[in-house]
Amino acid sequence: MDLRFTDEENAFRAEVRAFIRAKLPADIHAKMLEHRSLTKDDVVTWQRILNARGWATPSWPKAWGGPGWDAVQRYIFLDELHQAPAPEPVSFNVSMIGPVIGTFGSEEQKQRLLPRIANLDDWWCQGFSEPGAGSDLAALSTSAVREGDEYLVNGTKMWQGMGHRADWMFTLVRTDPTAKKQAGITFLLIDMKSPGLSVQPIMTIDGRHEVNSVFLDKVRVPVANRVGDENKGWDIAKFLLGNERTGIARIGMSKQLLRRAKKIAAETGADDADFKLRCAEIEVELKALEITQMRVLAGMKEHSEKPDPRSSILKVRGVDLRQSASELMLRAAGPYALPAEGEYDEPNADAPLAGSTWGSTIAPVYYILRAASIYGGATEVQKNILAQSVLGLPK
Ligand SMILES: Cc1cc2nc3c(=O)[nH]c(=O)nc-3n(C[C@H](O)[C@H](O)[C@H](O)COP(=O)(O)OP(=O)(O)OC[C@H]3O[C@@H](n4cnc5c(N)ncnc54)[C@H](O)[C@@H]3O)c2cc1C
Repeated sequence: MDLRFTDEENAFRAEVRAFIRAKLPADIHAKMLEHRSLTKDDVVTWQRILNARGWATPSWPKAWGGPGWDAVQRYIFLDELHQAPAPEPVSFNVSMIGPVIGTFGSEEQKQRLLPRIANLDDWWCQGFSEPGAGSDLAALSTSAVREGDEYLVNGTKMWQGMGHRADWMFTLVRTDPTAKKQAGITFLLIDMKSPGLSVQPIMTIDGRHEVNSVFLDKVRVPVANRVGDENKGWDIAKFLLGNERTGIARIGMSKQLLRRAKKIAAETGADDADFKLRCAEIEVELKALEITQMRVLAGMKEHSEKPDPRSSILKVRGVDLRQSASELMLRAAGPYALPAEGEYDEPNADAPLAGSTWGSTIAPVYYILRAASIYGGATEVQKNILAQSVLGLPK
């Protein structure tokens, strides 16, 4: 197994890097460097710049209007975005609902929706989890009862990331309460402007508004908005979660967090021998993870892109290391990391250390990264997958 990048792959990396340098708007780059929140306009602007280049949908084949990249090209592209740092294309659109429509959608749905998904003309959110259904997603209870050409939908969805920005929600509903729990589920597309649908913010410990509850009270959804057959939604959900959970290690993001931690420590004087030792430990572990990532990619190349259950280790360790790097940032900033109300997103790149709010995004980053071991498949659940699929332990 050859773990080195080929000359073509290195040339591709250089092309991506040059494009990001030339095209990423300076204000968005500055926000990314300081971990400030992006506005909806920022995200849409960048995604459309990528889309104009044909790069907004890294995992899509050419038939859907994507670049048709292999796993290594996708990895290099995202790694360059993370290291720049630049925003990733909106995952709800390009990694979740896009591949679902491309694989399971009707011809009409593909023609109508795929270009809008890529260009972020419609912003999508994921309406899967409920107050009583998370890791055990098939326990979901939001009901959809067929009435002529419509479904009448009632229930509560929870944790909808960016639901307040979304135009549409892809969701799982129970259409047959008498069937075995996985068998009675249907995949529906719901317009967020539908009468009876309301969005309520959930403020997370980082002080920001990213997630929401979505309440569905007698919401009417046209049958034409169903993807696939009635009661066959679980297969689609598994496909989507497989894409979400084969999530990569985001090593570039950890490197960027470490770079910022070192820069801050050099200014605050926190870069003592112990700090440097911890940086080195994380860097060594990142290198080991990078090699594991390369092994998984090489395996995918040899086995025609089949998702590899070993990629669960990439998610688990990738999150661990991002969390560790954010802890170092916190340590480097010391009391400056303490956010004061209303200061989270102040632009203050050039402010001197003392008396400024330069550190006010650091604690929020530390806090919100705790959630990364829950969403996209909780760490314990990923470990179960590894135990069963890689180590061969009984279920
Ligand atoms: C910031 C954030 C954003 C999110 N965004 C979205 C979104 O956009 N759309 C959406 O639909 N959902 C979203 N979620 C929900 C997320 O998918 C769920 O929180 C996750 O699946 C865990 O479900 P739960 O919260 O019900 O916890 P539970 O499933 O109840 O888990 C509680 C604990 O038990 C452990 N556990 C559960 N089952 C097992 C098991 N079999 N073996 C061992 N341990 C187990 C878990 O690892 C966890 O530690 C988001 C969550 C967060 C925190």
